[in-house]
Amino acid sequence: MVSHIHNWLTRMAPGTVAREYLAVGVMSSGMPIRIPVTLVKGASAGPCLWVNGQVHGNELNGVVAAVQFGCGLNPARLSGTVVITPTANPLAMDSRMKTAPQDLQDLDQTFPGNVVGLLTHRLAAALFDEVRSVANCLVNLHTMGSVNESKPYSVYKSFPGSTVSEAQLLRMMAFFEPSVACRMDVGGAGELPGNIAGALDYQCLALNIPAFMVELGQGSWYTHENVALAVTGLRRLAQYLGIVPAGTVTGPVHRTLRRVTRRQWVMNRCGGLFLTDCLAGQIVPKHQPLGRVLDLYGQEQEVVTLANDAIVIGMRRDPVVHTGDRVAFVATQWDTCTIVDDKV
Ligand SMILES: [Zn+2]
Repeated sequence: MVSHIHNWLTRMAPGTVAREYLAVGVMSSGMPIRIPVTLVKGASAGPCLWVNGQVHGNELNGVVAAVQFGCGLNPARLSGTVVITPTANPLAMDSRMKTAPQDLQDLDQTFPGNVVGLLTHRLAAALFDEVRSVANCLVNLHTMGSVNESKPYSVYKSFPGSTVSEAQLLRMMAFFEPSVACRMDVGGAGELPGNIAGALDYQCLALNIPAFMVELGQGSWYTHENVALAVTGLRRLAQYLGIVPAGTVTGPVHRTLRRVTRRQWVMNRCGGLFLTDCLAGQIVPKHQPLGRVLDLYGQEQEVVTLANDAIVIGMRRDPVVHTGDRVAFVATQWDTCTIVDDKV
């Protein structure tokens, strides 16, 4: 298999930047379907960090963070390579939608992709074949949906038999100062229906490439502080990997992470107006209200509570709800992990 990125990097002079496109297909109008990629080749050899800004087209903070991180790198001072794909889902981004309107497939459920499949499957394959050939570490940036507020947090998975350890992933994720680090059950418990094993980070773990997700707040929205946190996290990670020189960036000072091992969506029973009683990041004791649903005469129809204590990961801020809408995303089981500094 030909790796375009491997070939481009081989031809680049040390200490330079290249801006390319990965060709995927053609629209009916003749417009090319392609994934933009920035290659930053260091002055000396070293590992390759891949930053993917977006798999879901309406999740924008990661796109900005990936671009800004790339622009802040000085290739003359790097040892190794940084590959940046600000968006892996350009048709979805252009359409301000989570998924490409052509096939409505969730890109982060389709890896490793299929070169003869639906358009989204082809996008996945175009990206993943390149990741497979060059990446030593990958960060996949996301946000929650447009109706939810949340604090930045991270998500990771465990692939049976992978050489990538949970301690390694926790070490790397801590650089982003996540409010919680969620260990996601690939079997799907607590999650929405879908092929979670088709996630980019999970498929990287299958190839022994350390990979995880960072969730940067609300979709369809630019949040300066979340972008700044992600850029700092990426710089810390690049420093940890030895790609940027030691002393470039400091922190974080916290040596622990709140690890979530069980989480769930909370759905409402009554339609109406959902008004939250709490904030993202807050711990809500059991039987205390997460929020309440009023009808359009102002009469309270439902108080939404949980049988367990919970950390609010995401809270709905769009009050219009029908029966069975998602009003909150919560952690119901967590502990505190100490970060261990074992090298990759
Ligand atoms: Zn996403």
